[in-house]
Amino acid sequence: MSGRTVLVVGASVAGVQAARALRAQGHGGRIVLAGAEPQLPYDKPPLSKQYLAGDWDTERFRLLGEQEARDLDIELRLGTPAVKLDPIDHRVRFEGGSECGYDTCVLATGARARPSPWRVDSGLHLVRSLADAEALRADLERGGHVVVIGAGFIGAETASTARALGCEVTVVDPSPAPMQRVLGPELGKLFVSLHERHAVHTRFGRAVRSITGTAGDLAVTLDDGETLRAGTVVVGIGAVPNDGWLTGSGLDLVDGVLCNEYCRAVGAEDVFAAGDVARWFHPGREKHLRVEHWTNAVDQAAVVAHNIVHPEAPQPYAPVEYVWSDQYDWRIQIVGRPATAVRHTVIGEFEENARAAALFGDAAGRLSAAVTVNWPRALLECRRLVSAGSALGDAEQRVNALAQPPRPVPSSGAAL
Ligand SMILES: Cc1cc2nc3c(=O)[nH]c(=O)nc-3n(C[C@H](O)[C@H](O)[C@H](O)COP(=O)(O)OP(=O)(O)OC[C@H]3O[C@@H](n4cnc5c(N)ncnc54)[C@H](O)[C@@H]3O)c2cc1C
Repeated sequence: MSGRTVLVVGASVAGVQAARALRAQGHGGRIVLAGAEPQLPYDKPPLSKQYLAGDWDTERFRLLGEQEARDLDIELRLGTPAVKLDPIDHRVRFEGGSECGYDTCVLATGARARPSPWRVDSGLHLVRSLADAEALRADLERGGHVVVIGAGFIGAETASTARALGCEVTVVDPSPAPMQRVLGPELGKLFVSLHERHAVHTRFGRAVRSITGTAGDLAVTLDDGETLRAGTVVVGIGAVPNDGWLTGSGLDLVDGVLCNEYCRAVGAEDVFAAGDVARWFHPGREKHLRVEHWTNAVDQAAVVAHNIVHPEAPQPYAPVEYVWSDQYDWRIQIVGRPATAVRHTVIGEFEENARAAALFGDAAGRLSAAVTVNWPRALLECRRLVSAGSALGDAEQRVNALAQPPRPVPSSGAAL
């Protein structure tokens, strides 16, 4: 591998992790890390949480500084999006016409917020990049009523942060309950109460028909004719992979870059993908998946780096999915895919200042997923048990045991 160039396109968590892991695993050749955004690589999860809440220290959210890049001998090429991949000539072209040749290319261009189908001149926001969060923060500072459209992770977190900033907030979502696609209908209902307990107005099962006006004076009209007046509107209706620049490259693009189980792009020997843009074959689930979570981006990038440095011993990528989200007073952690489970059981109560877990079982009676609130120990245990394919009953016992107060240590009577 030494002397060979690895070009990583996309300089966020998957791209930075791929570059770091390549060095850590012994790649001695050139590493070029190219990104569309002009800033040094930064992390996205804080954008809807601490950053929006006024914690402005972007240093804390930096994924790679200039000095560290120099120390690791990673060449940064920031502020110029890649526009074309030529896998035959092994070249990537950037906006403005410059090019970079590669021996191996890692695609880590992630995803962007699904564009708003409603257009107004000002006051309407998406939340994906630092620039998005800065613009939203400026509008939130003006106060007033905030309407959040979409109650998925980003919408719910933004609603929670806006509420903490003192804004009046209404959440609108056509589903009957938040995050129903991930959590299933029953658990989703608990998240309706979560919003309502924090004095957020909700309009679940209602769609937006139109938005008119400008910042400070917007009107959001719903499908039943109700009109919500708002100073600011946030649209959080999902994300789409940044794979458009690869059109015509010969890669198989199916809502993301189609890859095999080793995260190698289908139809291109020397191209891999990691993070939100990758749709790879999950050998455990026996289907192609694209996952939009931070831990997946980190873990997948590490496997890609391994498979580049050690082609003689490639590792398939078969993770148990994991995601966390901070909403109001809840740290929510999810392992596996709850919505695909056939039954579930709840330990503790999902209420204010909760410490609770929901364990999900598959048709074979195994623990297949878990959702915990403010209970990292239970989550860690469940993550281990899901990976081990434990029986649901065993998992219930173990998590119940964690819920018991620790037994007092018997006194020996001897002074130590
Ligand atoms: C506001 C927010 C909050 C989140 N909170 C959580 C959370 O609490 N928990 C969790 O698990 N996940 C969370 N996520 C999801 C997580 O951040 C993503 O899964 C993760 O960032 C994916 O990393 P990535 O590197 O694959 O893609 P991205 O982070 O999308 O980065 C891709 C990078 O590639 C660049 N790029 C795009 N096109 C090109 C091009 N043509 N040429 C060069 N560069 C390009 C982009 O500018 C971007 O910098 C959150 C995401 C957001 C937006």
